[in-house]
Parts: sequence; structure tokens; C-alpha cells
Amino acid sequence: MIRSTILVSGDPISLSRGAEETKLAIEAELSFYGLEDEVQVGYTGRVNRTDVLPVVVVYPEGTVYGPVTPRDGSEIVEEHLYKGRVVDHLTVAAEIAAAEIDTLGELSDTLYGQKRIVLRRAGLIDPYSIDDYIAEDGYFALATALTDMTPDDVLQTVKNSNLQGRGGAGFPTGLKWSFVAQQAEPTRYIVCNADESEPGTFKDRLIIEGDPHSVLEGMALSGYAVGAHEGWIYIRGEYVMARDILNRAIAQAEEMNLLGDGILGSDFSFHIHVHAGAGAYICGEETALLNSLEGQRGIPRIRPPYPTVSGFRGMPTVVNNVETLANVAPIVLNGADWFRAIGTNRSPGTKVYTMLGDVNITGLVETPMGTTLREIIDIYGGGVKDGKAFKAAQTGGSSGTIIPADLLDVPMDFASMQEKGAGLGSGALLVCDEDTDIVDLAYVLVRFFMTESCGKCTPCRVGNVQMLESLERLRKGMARRSDLERLEEIADFVQQSSFCGLGQAAPVPILTGLRYFRDEFEARLRA
Ligand code: SF4
Repeated sequence: MIRSTILVSGDPISLSRGAEETKLAIEAELSFYGLEDEVQVGYTGRVNRTDVLPVVVVYPEGTVYGPVTPRDGSEIVEEHLYKGRVVDHLTVAAEIAAAEIDTLGELSDTLYGQKRIVLRRAGLIDPYSIDDYIAEDGYFALATALTDMTPDDVLQTVKNSNLQGRGGAGFPTGLKWSFVAQQAEPTRYIVCNADESEPGTFKDRLIIEGDPHSVLEGMALSGYAVGAHEGWIYIRGEYVMARDILNRAIAQAEEMNLLGDGILGSDFSFHIHVHAGAGAYICGEETALLNSLEGQRGIPRIRPPYPTVSGFRGMPTVVNNVETLANVAPIVLNGADWFRAIGTNRSPGTKVYTMLGDVNITGLVETPMGTTLREIIDIYGGGVKDGKAFKAAQTGGSSGTIIPADLLDVPMDFASMQEKGAGLGSGALLVCDEDTDIVDLAYVLVRFFMTESCGKCTPCRVGNVQMLESLERLRKGMARRSDLERLEEIADFVQQSSFCGLGQAAPVPILTGLRYFRDEFEARLRA
């Protein structure tokens, strides 16, 4: 009989620091003490701090150890599992433990103000185990939908919840589903956009690595609601581990008839396939993604028709982001009112952010919509590094707005940010301290977009090169005032006339940098 469970963090950082060897050492020590039938060992996803990785969590106590070497792993087995004594010198501080792993079960909702919906199981369960997922209400929403709800009930629940797409645009998910549901064409598809290629953004990867079935269940519910029987996950090619976890999760779900033909004895069938991208940033744009998924060159399509009318293989298609889909099962399970009570009126629910840059704690955090940037930096990020002053933050990844200190108290939700000319984008938060050079930052970002431009349209293909050249002259002190005016003119033109979101967003760091930090650009002008 199993009396304890040991979970070792199995994310890439932990693995690069010897998590696999630690797990093997733990298993060997368990076998030495004859405990292998009483204690099960597995991997878990990481959700927060990197400085204590790899962590080892012992349940049911919820003791968190970290960082743990293979030798430490052996000591934990001998002392904690065999002799029943917590190894104090290896435990992490209580506040780190609470933020790192949801060891406190039902208290996790209030952990340091975090509200975890999407990440509620990440760190608590073994992502390779469907049993773990099922034990934590997994597939209960799907079972409930198939037995007690019509497809339209599910659709209306998601619509009433006002769940907005977490991929960046914030489009109402239920409305998007309803466009697909009302098409005459009976063949429909669900596509999960897991092509997370924005530099500094890794939340979708960690959602998948921590709780893969939540995404699969969300896709199946979406398929049920709109009448689709096939789903595709387009995942970034470099996400090898996440892909492996997804493939195993799909196989386990099919084996238990939670995916596949006639799910749970119903007449609803739903199959999910995983497709790895080849590394082009533009394939995160939904129509380029669909082209790539069909085996064509990954460049954006003309819209309309929108994917909801003519998407994958020309059929009505729902394209939703990983985080969006991971919200669906909790909404179906708890109802639209429950979801709308979290966050703000205009943007209910939570948002997962990846925080990086000049903060004391980098990593993943999930907070109710409407939490301010100041709260996120001070509470979850532990403040700006080395006691320095905050200078700027870039919200929403590389294509996001550079915002100054006087916007620190704007509620972080789609509508409030939009009103201030900013956006939530991919959920990446780059925090910059007083030493950050905004011109250099803009240069690095434009270079990224120039490299990633697919070349289909002239404003983006040529404009990014010209913007980069202008910034280069500025950085070398060779630019005159007329060059700066020209840079602004080009940036404005590229934003207005580019074909897709990539080109429209590429000049944002320049334009917002100029709006809030013009003096830094002017200080680089030739005397
Ligand atoms: Fe391609 Fe850029 Fe034009 Fe988009 S804006 S279609 S990425 S060239």
C-alpha cells in the first residue's frame, strides 16, 4: 500500500541540474530500505523559483526540499521516509515552499495573493500520471458535460463566463466558439496554439509540463461545444519535453476512453494530434500556424475569411491558446458566475505571467485580472534587484509596450491596459531597473523582429531593416535630429501598413520608447 509520494521537479532547468540522477538515487535508496512498494516516486512540473531547483516534495506532509543533489535524495529517504524525521537543513523556507509548490492544498488559492486556476495542479501532481490528474477532479468537467449538458450548454457557460483569449488579443472565447458552432460545414477542428515563441515567454510550456491533461480536457470540451471531433496541438519545436508529456498524456487518456471514439460511452468522439513547429516565430500567428500545420509555408493568410469560417483544411476552426484552454474545464465545472467573480468586471479570471529581468524573483505567477504591475513586481518579484529604482517594464513580450513608472498602478486587465495604450500580450513581464538603456532595448527588439519577419509584405520586410539601421546610427552617435524624425515616421508607417500582427507590433518598442523616454533617444544624437 502506498503511504507516501515523492515528486521531483522535472522541468528542463531541474533536469540540467541533475534531477534525473536525484530521482534515481531516491529510487535506489527506497529499494535499499525495502520501501519501494510503500513510496511512489514521480516527476512534477515547476512553477516558480529557479534558485531552489531541483526540488523534492514529500507528500502527504507537503515537505519541500531544495535544491536537492542525488546524495541529498538518499538522505531524505533515510531520514524522512525510513526514520520519519524531516531533514531540516535541506528544506526550503516556508514562504518559498508555499510559492513554489501548492503543498498547502486548499490554501493554495490565497498563497501570497495568487489565485491559481490554470496552475492549480502544477507542482502538485505528476504530469506523467493521468491518475494524479483524475484524483484532482481531472476529466470531471468532461464527464459532467457529456452526461448532463448539451453542447450548447457548454458553449453558453463559456460565453457567459466572458473568458477572453489569453494569447494576447483578449477576444471572447465563447463568441469565437459560437462562430464555429453555427457554420453549416459539419467538419470542424480545434487547434491549440502552443507555438510559444515570444522571447521571455514560457508560461504555456510550464502549463503543459505541469498539467498537460488540463489542456487536453479543455480541447475536448471545446470540441463537444462546437461539434468538432479532431484537435491539433501546434507546439514549438524546441519544446521537446512538453511534447513528450503531451503525447504520453494523450495515449493515457485514450487508453481510459477519455479521448478517442465514444468517450465514456457517449456518442462524442474526439482525437488529438500533436504537431511540432520548425522554429519560425511567425507561426504563432494563427493563420500562419494553420498554413504550417497544413504543410505549407508558414506565412499569414488574408482575413477574412477568419479561421472560424475557413481555417484548418478550409474548415471552421477554433484556434485557442494553451492558457485559454486550461481555463475551460474549471469554468464548466464551477460555472460562469464563479469565474466572473474572479478578476475584474470587464476581464474575469486570472492571468499567468512570466516575470523576468531586474527583479529578485523571476518565474511564473498567476494572479486575478486587475492586479497592478506594482503589486506583481513588489509581491511576487520580490522588488527590483539590488535595491535599484524601477525604470520601465515591457508588458506582453517583445512586441509589448514599454511603460514607465507612472503606469505602475494601472490594473492589469485587457481593457484597462488598452485604455493606457498598453497590452497584456503574451503575459511576459520584462522589468528594467534604472540602469537600463531604452535605446539599446529597442535595438535588440527590432533586431529580433527583423530576423523573424516572414518577408511577405514590404513594410515589415524593409521597414524593420530601416528601423534597425536608424537605431544603429543612433547608438553610434551618428544620427541627426532628422534621422530620429525619420525613424519615428518609418515606425509609424510599419505599424499602420504591415500585413499581420508581427509587423504591426514590431515598432511598438520604438514608438512607446519615444513616447515615454524621448530624452534618451535625443541624448544619443550627433552634437
Ligand atoms: Fe510577414 Fe511581417 Fe508582413 Fe507579417 S507583417 S506578413 S510577418 S512580412
